[in-house]
Amino acid sequence: MDLNRFPRRNYVQSATPIEELPAFSKALGGKVNLYIKRDDLLPGCAGGNKTRKLDFCIADAMKNGADTIITCGAVQSNHCRLTLSWSVKEGLDCHLVLEERVAGSYKEEGSGNNFLFHLMGVKSITVVPGGSDMVSEMEKVAVKLREKGKQPYIIPGGASNAIGATGYVACAEEIQQQLFESNLVIDQIVVPSGSAGTHAGVVVGLFGTNSATSVIGINVSRTKEVQERIVHKLAVETACRLGIRETIPVNAVNCFDNYVGPGYSLPTESMVEAVKLLAQTEAILLDPVYSGKAMAGLIDLVRNDYFVPGSKVLFLHTGGSPALYAYLDTFR
Ligand SMILES: *Cc1c(COP(=O)(O)O)cnc(C)c1O
Repeated sequence: MDLNRFPRRNYVQSATPIEELPAFSKALGGKVNLYIKRDDLLPGCAGGNKTRKLDFCIADAMKNGADTIITCGAVQSNHCRLTLSWSVKEGLDCHLVLEERVAGSYKEEGSGNNFLFHLMGVKSITVVPGGSDMVSEMEKVAVKLREKGKQPYIIPGGASNAIGATGYVACAEEIQQQLFESNLVIDQIVVPSGSAGTHAGVVVGLFGTNSATSVIGINVSRTKEVQERIVHKLAVETACRLGIRETIPVNAVNCFDNYVGPGYSLPTESMVEAVKLLAQTEAILLDPVYSGKAMAGLIDLVRNDYFVPGSKVLFLHTGGSPALYAYLDTFR
């Protein structure tokens, strides 16, 4: 696919590594060979998956003459941290609207990503209650900024629209190129499925290149039915933007919702186990909200023989480790 015709800022200057996880695979009984795509090492303050999406979204903002970026997320949002990070680099103002999905969870002096919002000089943080209409809350901030003569551009939560998801179509192509060069065949890719841009982009990238590899998403908040509908809808919109003529089949989108636990961002025992096991076998840091729960899902699927013995499975590490420092008590 020719993605070069879409404006981007070139934040991803080289491929992120694909590494084998021999000690981790062994700790899980050696039934499957696990690999990891290190998107936690992408550029941008403390790395993570949003950099690939923002590469296209911020290019669109700048093409439209924006001098200010507004976006939204949860109180420990990695997406907000990376949007701010790239705004700083581009010389754009950045305003955040944070949704307090767990009542009382926002603390101005909070650690993790929240600390980094202040350290990188966020222009404003507006905290709104869980369940707020985030689009209209961001629009309210935009109205005030326009009155002051600013030119704001709103990036949706997680940068998960067809523009942002294009970054993960590019990632799927990058993975295929790396596997070709190393003569490695991967049977399945496992991704965290949140605001859906990552999952949808990978689905479109694999479909559009006729790949034999399939992808499964591990949900971090929603039920299987709801998430599959959201991912499929975004995949269709993204494929349309890229000019793919065939429709994305519904069965290309598969999600598991049994690792969410009590809810978004709330710790589970299996998440804690996953974070500790990967840290202690491979010295790679996951996060409590996304990659930790997704890895808990992968571990459980391996233990329950979901994968054919000897399969090669690639885990997409989407980053998020700064949030660990807001969850110290959970891990002690
Ligand atoms: C945002 C995020 C995800 C989920 O990606 P989506 O594209 O929103 O589904 C996964 N992991 C981390 C660390 C994230 O910040």
